[in-house]
Amino acid sequence: MNEIRYRSTRGGEQGVSASQAILKGLADDGGLFVPESLPEFSVPLGNLKSMSYQETAYEVMRLFFTDFTEEELKTCIRGAYDEKFDTEMIAPLVKKGDAYYLELFHGKTIAFKDMALSILPYLMTTSAKKNGVKNEIVILTATSGDTGKAALAGFADVPGTSIIVFYPKDGVSPIQEKQMVTEPGKNTMVVGALGNFDDCQTGVKKMFNNKDLAARMAEKGYQFSSANSINIGRLVPQIVYYVYAYGQLLKSGDLSEGETMDVVVPTGNFGNILAAYYAKQIGLPVGTLYCASNENKVLFDFFGSGTYDRKREFILTSSPSMDILISSNLERLIYRIAGDSTDKIANFMKQLSGDGEYTITNDMRQQLSAFVGGFATEEQTAGEIASVYKDTGYVLDPHTAVASYVCREKAKAGQVKTVVASTASPYKFTRSVMLAIDREKYESMGDFELVDELNRLSGVAIPQAIESIRTAPVVHDTVCEVDTMQKTVEKKLGL
Ligand SMILES: *Cc1c(COP(=O)(O)O)cnc(C)c1O
Repeated sequence: MNEIRYRSTRGGEQGVSASQAILKGLADDGGLFVPESLPEFSVPLGNLKSMSYQETAYEVMRLFFTDFTEEELKTCIRGAYDEKFDTEMIAPLVKKGDAYYLELFHGKTIAFKDMALSILPYLMTTSAKKNGVKNEIVILTATSGDTGKAALAGFADVPGTSIIVFYPKDGVSPIQEKQMVTEPGKNTMVVGALGNFDDCQTGVKKMFNNKDLAARMAEKGYQFSSANSINIGRLVPQIVYYVYAYGQLLKSGDLSEGETMDVVVPTGNFGNILAAYYAKQIGLPVGTLYCASNENKVLFDFFGSGTYDRKREFILTSSPSMDILISSNLERLIYRIAGDSTDKIANFMKQLSGDGEYTITNDMRQQLSAFVGGFATEEQTAGEIASVYKDTGYVLDPHTAVASYVCREKAKAGQVKTVVASTASPYKFTRSVMLAIDREKYESMGDFELVDELNRLSGVAIPQAIESIRTAPVVHDTVCEVDTMQKTVEKKLGL
């Protein structure tokens, strides 16, 4: 099998092994690691229908993580996809109406981030061992709400690591915040930053790129890595569930071998949909990729015009994990369609941070033909939750509802089998969900009262993740200004 090496989208590094790329997270020049060439999926499609999630995961990950041994990879996979998930299927596919909802929220923190963050700590510690790293790995993460808890759960009390999470203090749901600030892991730290997600992400990226900080950390035996979807160790595990979904559709006889499957993905940082694109690139018969945005529709505008323009108001919505104006992983797509030209990417990214926008060439635009952008307003999102519930009894979370709306509006779900990535349990966003269904009735109820109401109405058992925070004590109460994020980290590490 071909060895896959990684390079920075901005040209500063190349020939990096998978394990080194996982350890570093972000390249030294601020770029993202991308495979120097894309592998090809070699398992016959027909075999997929009899493969478990874990088997599928191995066949996908071995293509990308070529410096891991079979034993190492299988150990990582076994450790990650076990009883932490509340179903043996790991990612069940549920048909409602014309759409197939790929439920990616059966992990520990009931959001799709668990799909990758339950394996990342295993990949990270294996990578450290392989590369003789003795430093403690400090996972530094910005979260729009869901990554935070999923990363905390994954790295809590993992020897040789610690984790610091920054979240926008007023930009996450009450349940999301409660999940994070009650995290008991001894090596964890959670900080509310007084800004929005983009501020948190920019602050974190700055620390990654700060050479002086890195040197002072090394003196004390620390090094940073990232649990955000800029880490290739998060992206690759996300390819798996698209391949698995295809196998499930073959198994149920809904798809025949080689027939195309479309996907609709509720998008924020562009990681999930990029994984679907990679699945297509390695040979899975994926047709159209519908990129669904909420009112922060910078990606919808980009796919329509070829101009990425972040100069606009940041809107807080009921789908906070998609409240993002700088979608980091888009850089990896732009890299592909620029003919792997790192100079072009470095230039675009400079324009983005300087002028706040860039425009791709017509040639590049033509290569985006598989992508279709769509968006849903707050009203349309709430309407989608209400109408899907009314028609089918199935309750969507607001993120999935954005995608479900775009599916109904744009996709041809009646003709082409269409998979909607279902990224969170409705229990994580109980208030928004219940108000969408009946505002008058539920408006005055408390958060946990609403949890019980949702249970009554949907018949879906209350996930352990929710039960366990009902009474859990708050253990993290640090709040900081955006421009003191680094100071907060230095204090924590004793620098
Ligand atoms: C993170 C997240 C998204 C956005 O995914 P990206 O990979 O950042 O595009 C959508 N929905 C939920 C529930 C999420 O947690």
